[in-house]
Amino acid sequence: MLFWSLGLVMPEILREESSSSSSTTAGTITGAGTGDFKLNLFGKYDVGKLLGCGAFAKVYHARDVRTRQSVAIKTVSKTKILKGGFTEHVKREISIMRRLRHPHIVRLHEVLATKTKIYYVMEFAKGGELFTKVSKGRFSEDLSRRYFQQLISAVDYCHSRGVYHRDLKLENLLLDENWDLKVTDFGLSAVTDQIRPDGFLHTLCGTPAYVAPEILEKKGYDGAKVDLWSCGIILFVLNAGYLPFTDANLMAMYRKIYKGEFRCPKWTSHGLKLLLTRLLDTNPETRISIEQIRNDPWFRKGYKEVLICLDC
Ligand code: ADP
Repeated sequence: MLFWSLGLVMPEILREESSSSSSTTAGTITGAGTGDFKLNLFGKYDVGKLLGCGAFAKVYHARDVRTRQSVAIKTVSKTKILKGGFTEHVKREISIMRRLRHPHIVRLHEVLATKTKIYYVMEFAKGGELFTKVSKGRFSEDLSRRYFQQLISAVDYCHSRGVYHRDLKLENLLLDENWDLKVTDFGLSAVTDQIRPDGFLHTLCGTPAYVAPEILEKKGYDGAKVDLWSCGIILFVLNAGYLPFTDANLMAMYRKIYKGEFRCPKWTSHGLKLLLTRLLDTNPETRISIEQIRNDPWFRKGYKEVLICLDC
């Protein structure tokens, strides 16, 4: 490949493909693009800079060659993950995810695959992570409510289609160019569980501070209730600027989660305190449901129903 012989560093996204056979299941990697986009994927996307790394994936900025629209491409190594091949279950999950269309959910445009990698081509969230914003300072109650309303709208939409996130956390909440919320990785956790035999352990170790008490009990759990617990943690962080359950010792932190021991900061209004208590109810049976959240007076303030465009 002439491009590499010019002495440029080959980004890891393509290293595996170039060293293996040039024919792939979904296309071939071609030469250089222009400007910041030095690589082309499947003749369809000019791949640019690395946006971030997750535990099992790398995410790159890219542009659709035809439309020049920005996209984010998440690459996951298949060799590490799907030892048994691209299973029917994973295919089914991806087809569900591709059908999710909601203004507050990162859209999955398409999924491409080579022998060794899966590429999730997603909507690009220009505003970056909500986490970065809140780590600079807690939000006002009104702003916390606005993001929480957008989050619940997205969660409700997915739950009503049988899709659960199971790893909701601030780091999975991105922002678009208007500073509106975009939840990422919806439906992916089910795929990732396929990927790793220790799906449970991942949940436990991946994001301990957001883990619901029933998961700690290692019993079966309801995906909807687990997501609502995580929404409670997120709402707490937006308002407080810190996590509700923390401890330098992991087991001590799990004990606090298990007992539901948390304290709202003094600036928290009565209405918000009530809602947080109902979200962070350690008993999933009595924990607030989405329908009840929709009727909560604190939640309802200034709520605008999100319009879902079914044609776009
Ligand atoms: P995590 O394991 O933290 O969920 P991901 O692998 O999903 O991480 O993504 C890593 C980082 O890439 C994110 O934290 C975010 O900064 C960036 N990122 C992911 N998806 C997008 C997207 N659709 N648009 C813009 N940036 C993204």
